[in-house]
Amino acid sequence: METRLDRYDGAREKKFAQLKQLIAESERIVFLGGAGVSTESGIPDFRSGHGIFNQDSGLEYRPVDIISHSFFTKHPEEFFDFYRRKLCYPDAKPNKAHKALVRLERRGKLLAVITQNVDNLHQLAGSIKTIELHGSVCRNYCMSCGAKYTLDFILHSEGVPKCTECGGMVRPDIVLYEEHLDHSNIDRAVAAIEKADLMIIGGTSLTVYPAATFAQFLPHDRVVIINKSSTYLDLQAMLTVHDSIGDVLDATIPKRVRKNPPADVPDKKSKGEKKAVDPGKDIAEDGI
Ligand SMILES: [Zn+2]
Repeated sequence: METRLDRYDGAREKKFAQLKQLIAESERIVFLGGAGVSTESGIPDFRSGHGIFNQDSGLEYRPVDIISHSFFTKHPEEFFDFYRRKLCYPDAKPNKAHKALVRLERRGKLLAVITQNVDNLHQLAGSIKTIELHGSVCRNYCMSCGAKYTLDFILHSEGVPKCTECGGMVRPDIVLYEEHLDHSNIDRAVAAIEKADLMIIGGTSLTVYPAATFAQFLPHDRVVIINKSSTYLDLQAMLTVHDSIGDVLDATIPKRVRKNPPADVPDKKSKGEKKAVDPGKDIAEDGI
């Protein structure tokens, strides 16, 4: 007898199968991801109940105010105190979502990973075609002479990090509130989306601009949404999956690449009938 759970699971399996098929049929995929991609690596998002904006900053200011350009300028010491404690996660590891996107890139099917995250986890997983809309905690520079510094330098400095060359303030190359995004990143993102035949939007509630508008650059019947909560595009997208981004991408992006499958060599020691293995099976199923 079919239970409610069976029906739910069936719907989930059907959606996974649809996405797997879409990925198999597509050649130029763009992924747009938000904080939900990183929460599965233990990095809190900003806006959810346990998000950074709802946490105690440990200071007399609200987190949402601290990560603004004016706060950074007026209170750099407090900014870096908060920044080191709440925005840097040097021990975080890439999760199933990051790894699945690397597989897609290595298959030559991925035009770009456009991310709103600043944690470097896509690159750490092995993605090359990344566009970091909001910058990266791993890039830091002296505001006076431009000298470059690592995340370790920031984490191991005290108070306001100072350039060892000239004594200027060293800041992270991330986009704070009131600051402009790098237009070359937006241009690259839009160019990739315009060339895409499938856009997968994952782990974002699509409330932050400009990423929220990026789906306008290709027909909505080429857009897939994967997010635990609903987004404004859910009804227009061709497929919407309210689920874990890591689970969905891991299940729908093929794991095995065997371009030259070995011929089926029967095992001499085996007795009786051996089920024939189709050497092209993985590839046919994976749609290559
Ligand atoms: Zn300097």
